[in-house]
Order: sequence, then structure tokens, then C-alpha cells
Amino acid sequence: MRVDCLIVGAGPAGSVMAEQMASKGFTTMVVEKKQEIGIFKRCAEGVTKHGIEKLGIKINESSIAGRIRGAMLYSPSGKTVVMEGKEMEGFVLERKIFEKWLASKAIESGAEYMVKAQAMGMQKKNQAWEVKVRSLEGMKEIEAKLVIGADGVESKVGRWAGINTVNKLTDYHSCFQYEMAGVNIDKNYIHIFFGNDVAPCGYAWIFPKEFSANVGLGILEKKAKMKAFDYVRKFIEEHENIFRNAQPIEANAGGVPVAHFTEMTADGVMLVGDAAQLVNPIHGGGITRAIHSSLIASEVAENAMNEGDLSKERLKEYEMKWEEEYGEKTKKLMKLRNFLEKLEDKDFELLADILQGEDIFQLTQAKLSFFIKKVMTKPSLLGLVKKYLMD
Ligand SMILES: Cc1cc2nc3c(=O)[nH]c(=O)nc-3n(C[C@H](O)[C@H](O)[C@H](O)COP(=O)(O)OP(=O)(O)OC[C@H]3O[C@@H](n4cnc5c(N)ncnc54)[C@H](O)[C@@H]3O)c2cc1C
Repeated sequence: MRVDCLIVGAGPAGSVMAEQMASKGFTTMVVEKKQEIGIFKRCAEGVTKHGIEKLGIKINESSIAGRIRGAMLYSPSGKTVVMEGKEMEGFVLERKIFEKWLASKAIESGAEYMVKAQAMGMQKKNQAWEVKVRSLEGMKEIEAKLVIGADGVESKVGRWAGINTVNKLTDYHSCFQYEMAGVNIDKNYIHIFFGNDVAPCGYAWIFPKEFSANVGLGILEKKAKMKAFDYVRKFIEEHENIFRNAQPIEANAGGVPVAHFTEMTADGVMLVGDAAQLVNPIHGGGITRAIHSSLIASEVAENAMNEGDLSKERLKEYEMKWEEEYGEKTKKLMKLRNFLEKLEDKDFELLADILQGEDIFQLTQAKLSFFIKKVMTKPSLLGLVKKYLMD
């Protein structure tokens, strides 16, 4: 079996890549190891409306499980800062539906899909890659001019292609999440809780949906006293008012990479989405970035295919375009992450006193200079600001 483009993984990155490549006229196949696209989510399912629509994606109604006006942030002692405004509006998705919807768009554009089909390895064959796939019909060898690694945080495609995919363990957050019914919380907002006893070097979240909510947290294990699961149980116990009548209807765990690779291509190979670890290093959101990476990668792939040059040198244009778009911002957000990871509970209280919702939005956009000015007025934070935020 031969195709122009073989995509490993049918998450948001894989299906958007498939839609793009198929609609540009390339024979495109997607292999997905799970028996059903979109199941077992490892995601709190939140996206901003602005972020996703900027990419030209108008999410279909049935993929939307909650509509959000903004975010409420809670300090360890319970002080709140509210973030609202056009750019904070968003959705809590139903990923089971969202991912199938993205796949259906790719299929309408001509992509071929195989489910319960796992890529097991690949080797160079002539000018192409031969990918071994274990499928319901037995083992298959699929020859592809271009292989797209859209296989998520546990990606193997990059490693198979010789890309250096090793990151520090401290660059992964461990997450545990329940989806719960009966949660008593304002459904107009996502709710984010900070504190070293709540989620060391991370945060806890409640993302409300129509009749349920994603309740979870991410921690840096190195700094934690217990597992993410135990922190979630503790969080639920300590918020009796919110969870008195709540019960879990789903449980999931997963890792979020918070630092991306610099190398995302090899000869005839491109990595997109979590496979290249492209999440936002501050909040760990990766859906929009995964989709954006596929839009950029497919543009470069189209030209490279038409020129008959799929060498690493040619495909590197994708890395350069990504860097132009996100490089500077990501560097600043990494600095900010380092700073936030050093904060003690008393510092979070201080920040809750001096920051408004708009300030925090600007921070998430990597606008650090005003933050530095504001925080510099607080002597207890001076040392950390100088060490982590100023060059
Ligand atoms: C707990 C948690 C909460 C999160 N919350 C949010 C959030 O609220 N908002 C947000 O934007 N992001 C969130 N994220 C991140 C987000 O889930 C990811 O960034 C996003 O799913 C990346 O999409 P992707 O297509 O790159 O990878 P994935 O969605 O992981 O898709 C990869 C696909 O590849 C398949 N696959 C893997 N290996 C193979 C193989 N060998 N052969 C065939 N198929 C294979 C997998 O089965 C999977 O379907 C969260 C992550 C976690 C862990």
C-alpha cells in the first residue's frame, strides 16, 4: 500500500493535518491505535473562542459541552481574581465528539482512516518510509513519502526517525482528573486554584460542562509530597461546598509536556502537536497549538511535495515558521513558569492583591514588562523577579 502522506494518530493535530493534506490533493491515510477516535480523553477540554476561531475553525455545536465567559482564579486562602472579556470567552468541548467531527471533515476531504491500527515502527525504503501497522486486518506495510507524527505526548514517530525527543523529567506535569456530575459551581467560568498544598508547581481546575465538570490538577512530581491522584482527592475533600453532591463519571490521568523540542523534522517526517510537545508552557493547553502546528506543517508539506524535496533541510521551514510565530513568546512563558514554580503560598496571596484579571491575561500573552514593574514594588518578590524574569 502506498500513499503520499501517512499520519500516525487521529487527535486534533492528526485530523487537521489529514484534512489539509487530502484537500490539497495528496493521498492521505490516518492510522489511529484506539478503537474509537476521541476516547479516553486526557484533557480538561477547554479552549478559548478567540484562539480557535483565529485558526479559521468554527466548532460545530454538538462538540460544545460548556460555554465560558472567563476564568476565576483562587489564591491558597481563597481570594479570587476574575478574568473576563472577549478574549477570555471559550468553550469546554466534548472531545469524544470534537475529534470525530475533525476526522469527519478530513474524511469528507478524501482522507482514508483506519482505527485500531497501531504504527509499530518504520524504516527507510528508497525515497520513502515503510511504516509497519498492526491493524484489524493483520500486519500491514504502508509506504509513504511523508510520515506525520501526530501521536501525542508518548510519540514514537520522532524517535523512529532519529529525532532527539528526550526532555527533562521536570518538563512534564503529572495530571489526574475526574469528570464529575453534581458539582456545585458557577458554570459561566472555569475555576483555577493555586497553592503549594493544592498542586505543587501547577494548579487545580474545575472546567464546567452542561451537566458535569472536569475536576483535576497538574503537579511537578519532583516537588510533590504525594501523587496527583491524592492531591485531587484532597482538593475534593477540602471543597465540601462544591463537591458535596458530586460523584465521578470518568477518571483519567496523563502527562503534559511543558517544554517543546527544537527539532520537529527529519527526512520525510514532521512532528505536530503534542508529539513535538507544543503545549503552552504556562497553562498546558495544547489543542489550539496542535491544530496550528498542523496548519503550518501542511503548508510547508504541500510546497515540499510539489517541489519533490522532502529532505529535512526543506521541511525545516516548518520549524522556522513555528519559531517565528511562537518562539519568543514561548521563551518568555518558560521564564514565567520558572518564576511561578518558585512562589510560596504567601507570594500567591500577594499577587492576588496586586493583580487584576486583565493583568493576568496580559501575562498569559507573555507580556512581562508591566508585571515586572508591578511586582518589583514588593520587596519579598524582588529576588525572584531579578533571578527569573530579568535577563
Ligand atoms: C490532564 C490534561 C488536561 C488537559 N487539558 C487541556 C485543556 O483544557 N485544553 C487544551 O487545549 N489542552 C489540554 N491538554 C492538552 C491536550 O490534551 C493536548 O495538547 C492535545 O490533545 C494534543 O493533541 P494531539 O493531536 O497532538 O495529540 P493527542 O490528542 O494525544 O492525539 C494523539 C493520538 O495518537 C494516537 N496514537 C499514539 N500512538 C499511536 C500509534 N503508534 N499508532 C497509531 N495511533 C497512535 C493516540 O491514540 C491519540 O489518539 C490537557 C492534557 C492533559 C494530560
